[in-house]
Amino acid sequence: MSPRLAVIGAGAKGVAVAAKAAVLRDMGVDAPEVVVVERAEVAANWAAVGGWTDGQQRLGTSPEKDIGFPYRSSLVRRRNAELDERMTRLSWQSYLISTGQFADWVDRGRPAPTHLRWSQYLRWVADSVGISVVTGEVQRISVDGDRWAVHTDETVLCADGVMVTGPGQAERSILPGHPRVLSIAQFWHRAAEHERISAERVAVIGGGETAASMLNELFRHRVSTITVISPSVTLFTRGESFFENTLFSDPTGWTGLTLEERRDAMARTDRGVFSARVQDALLADDRIRHLRGRVAHAVPRDGRIRLTLNTDRGGERLETVHGFDLVIDGSGADALWFLPLLGQDALDLIELGLGGPLTGEALEESIGYDLAVAGVAPKLFLPGLSGLNQGPGFPNLSCLGLLSDRVLGADFGAGHPAPLRRNVERQPLR
Ligand SMILES: Cc1cc2nc3c(=O)[nH]c(=O)nc-3n(C[C@H](O)[C@H](O)[C@H](O)COP(=O)(O)OP(=O)(O)OC[C@H]3O[C@@H](n4cnc5c(N)ncnc54)[C@H](O)[C@@H]3O)c2cc1C
Repeated sequence: MSPRLAVIGAGAKGVAVAAKAAVLRDMGVDAPEVVVVERAEVAANWAAVGGWTDGQQRLGTSPEKDIGFPYRSSLVRRRNAELDERMTRLSWQSYLISTGQFADWVDRGRPAPTHLRWSQYLRWVADSVGISVVTGEVQRISVDGDRWAVHTDETVLCADGVMVTGPGQAERSILPGHPRVLSIAQFWHRAAEHERISAERVAVIGGGETAASMLNELFRHRVSTITVISPSVTLFTRGESFFENTLFSDPTGWTGLTLEERRDAMARTDRGVFSARVQDALLADDRIRHLRGRVAHAVPRDGRIRLTLNTDRGGERLETVHGFDLVIDGSGADALWFLPLLGQDALDLIELGLGGPLTGEALEESIGYDLAVAGVAPKLFLPGLSGLNQGPGFPNLSCLGLLSDRVLGADFGAGHPAPLRRNVERQPLR
């Protein structure tokens, strides 16, 4: 019996892992059974329905970094070239060819696709390989003997491993329900409805790609000033040179760096940085300014929202208050969003594996080669937290093919030897 892997979320990672498992099975190779649980639809977060975009924003990374990238499989001894060749049939370019868009895309200079087009690509992959999707929102994860039990309103799915994906909930807001404070989802809902935002002083909390997409949209609205609030010294541009890109596509050598070096590299290249394309637009617009600080709280007063910011100035904490007509809370992405789903038995099991209290830092530092929390059985794969230990490309779209190898090649426990080992035993040598 193949182990069952339950994936929370049919986004880029869920589709990538399920597709590679399907291709392996087509090759006659044992692979985990992948069941994806999705609350909305395949690739929902790349369309308006997911609340993270209106679908019209453009992908920051190259679309050739698709579900099989970097096409350097190391999962099936002596048949990896065949596996990669089969995976290219599910590539971005194969999608364009099969939908009659390839020549047009090349002639236009290979433009970055919109999020909506990217969602259509992911759906095409999911349909092509017939991935198994259970519709429902995961409400709870508990332990059932030596397996996980993944609960939705309607079903309980038992699995030998769980992989958590996605950035969390776009509905989060620093002042829920207040008309002058918008969550990410509320902002994109307005944009998708073509509702014009009209305000004098607007604040956008957050300096990452989510906030960058919102700024890109805000330019079109009637606003006098836009203040981007983030804890970083300034708004950094993501380094997109060969050397920075290879860190994301190929983590060889990453584990040889010290923790401090890895944190530094991630801060420079990934966390709280804008892509060069958005930076260009930002520089050209004199309505944008940056305010350094961490928002501590927000209160409505005199028709405005007053934000209290904490800033660290040479070891001293400075508190300042700023008033805005509209606040957009773009700080929603949270790699630990799944923690409230864990039942007490699941929490106990993870703390036992960690050998101490469950914190974000402890989880990050415990992620093993297979992108799962080391010492925890059944397997809990947390690619969103694996950047620090395994490579900065794993939480995003930078090496989905490699991510799939790591997860599908994991040892799922006593009853399920690692597929890699089984394949070595069973496959004829090429
Ligand atoms: C606006 C924006 C732009 C971005 N652009 C880029 C980019 O250009 N390049 C890049 O590398 N990264 C980008 N990112 C980061 C991006 O989030 C990740 O790279 C990538 O989407 C992660 O894939 P994923 O499969 O983990 O999550 P997603 O593709 O977001 O999929 C998560 C899925 O989980 C589902 N879900 C959530 N909660 C539950 C639940 N409780 N039960 C069931 N299903 C659930 C959602 O509906 C969704 O379909 C961007 C992020 C945002 C918000």
